[in-house]
This record gives sequence, structure tokens and C-alpha cells, in this order.
Amino acid sequence: MIRLALQTKGRLNEESLAIIREAGIKVEDSKRKLLSRASNFPLEILYLRDDDIPHAVAAGIADIGIVGENEVAEKGFKVDVLQKLGFGKCRISLAIPKGESYQDLSYFRGKRIATSYPNILGEFFTSNGINADIEEIAGSVEIAPAVGIADAIFDIVSSGGTLISNGLKEVEKVFYSEAALIATPGLGGEKGEILSRLLFRLGAVERSRGKKYLMINIPQERIDEAVSILPGMKSPTVLPLAQNGWCSIHTVVGEGELWEVVGALKAIGAEDILVLSLEKMVL
Ligand code: ATP
Ligand code: MG
Repeated sequence: MIRLALQTKGRLNEESLAIIREAGIKVEDSKRKLLSRASNFPLEILYLRDDDIPHAVAAGIADIGIVGENEVAEKGFKVDVLQKLGFGKCRISLAIPKGESYQDLSYFRGKRIATSYPNILGEFFTSNGINADIEEIAGSVEIAPAVGIADAIFDIVSSGGTLISNGLKEVEKVFYSEAALIATPGLGGEKGEILSRLLFRLGAVERSRGKKYLMINIPQERIDEAVSILPGMKSPTVLPLAQNGWCSIHTVVGEGELWEVVGALKAIGAEDILVLSLEKMVL
């Protein structure tokens, strides 16, 4: 049995559970119990606040966890980051009152900066030779300049809306983060084996995300042209059709390039274009 720490509630909770469920593992959400066992995989979920996940994993209270890279970096506990998971994307930025003029980092010399990420900010300032006064606050960092607690802030930004509504502007993007799967260093034996089964499944979930299965019919003499339009993968599957001189091409295409590819194929005579959702790309 392996124990996975997930955020109880908050921004990472739903997508963390979704990724586990997409990997075919049946688990209950945090509303019922804080510790619950999957019914069809040797996995147990421990629900925690995201701040506590790096420590829980480093100490072996949980074997693995899903948490933002920002929390991993800030807390500094020794854990292995196994895989980025593609959600919970954000950045931690320096922001100042919007009326201030800003040239470069020297702006921050001697200033008071409010943040919940004093370690990440401290390291950044040290490596850039900036001596500033870092004020750690737990929440509502964005109001600190308006109430006179600080001159600037270092906080999580995703769209920037919160900054604008607090009269601030983003001047330096310092740390980029997304949710990641972390593990206690050196997991071996039975746990290591369960972990590699889980990683195999998560890899398949990750690979199939945003992908479509594309099927077209095309005259035989246009195959080379069609293949040159189709992106990546090895080479697409080409199957003969019952109708003489025609064949069918099957391939996997990213959602982002789908319409461009379909348009180009249509222009060279493709017909019966089908786009199917892709369940899993296992390997
Ligand atoms: P908890 O109660 O578990 O401590 P929290 O309030 O500290 O939750 P959330 O706001 O749920 O945390 O954010 C969890 C994580 O989601 C962040 O640490 C970060 O990795 C990620 N994240 C992504 N976008 C944002 C955003 N716009 N604001 C805050 N966090 C974000
Ligand atoms: Mg938290």
C-alpha cells in the first residue's frame, strides 16, 4: 500500500482527484474522510492543507503527494519531484503600487516587501544582491501596501486581476509553478513497485490530454502529401479502402493544431473526416 497526500480543499483538490480517477483508481473525495482507501488499487489518500504536504512527504507520513512546486521550493524539505502535472499553473511575482516608476531590481533596495514566500524571495534577492526587508504574512498579501504594512508585495499571480483591483502592477516574474507529484526520497521495495505502476498510468493520462484521434479518407496518390501535413507521432496508419484508389489515414493530433491540419487535409482532397476523442495513449 502506498499513501498519497492531496489538498483537502482549494485550488488543487479537484484536479488532483481527477487525475487519480483518470488513471482508473476509485477514490472518495475529502468530504467523507480525511484518510480513505482506493477500492481497486493499493493506494490510500491522506487529505491535508497544501502547506503541510511537502513535510508529510519528506517525513514519510505520506509516501507521495500532489502539491504546487511553489510550496515545495518554499518549505525546502527534501523530496523527489517525480512529475509535473500540467495544472495549478501560476507564478510568484513582485508587484508595486501602480503609480510608481520602475526601472530594475534596485527599486527594492531597503524596501519592505510583504509575502507568504519569504524563502523563495530571500534567495532571489540574495542572488541578485538586493538587501530588502521581507515581511512574512500568511494571507491577504495584496492589501499590505494600501494599509501601510509594506511598500511592495511578492505574491502568486495567475491572471493579474487581483493586483489591478488593489492598485498594484507586476514588475518582476520570479518563480513559475505548477502542481507536481512528489515522493519521499528513495522509496523502494513494494512501495517503489506500486509507485512505478502509478507513474505508468499517470504518464498515459498526461500523454492523452488534449489529443484527438483523426481519421480521414483520401485518394491513394495524395498519401505522401497528407503524411507531410500530419504532425509528429511516428508515421500515421494507412489502410486500403474497399473502393479502388482510396485509402484511410488514422493518426493522433493535438487539439491546438487540429483545425489547421483538418483544413490542410481537406484542401488536398480528404473526405469523411472524423475526429474522435482519445481515451488513453498508453505508450
Ligand atoms: P490550503 O487551505 O490547502 O492551505 P491555500 O489557500 O494555501 O490552501 P490555494 O489557494 O488552494 O491554497 O492554492 C493552492 C495552490 O494552487 C497554490 O500553492 C499554487 O500552487 C496553486 N495556484 C494556482 N493558481 C493560483 C492562484 N491564482 N492563486 C493561488 N494559488 C494558485
Ligand atoms: Mg496553503
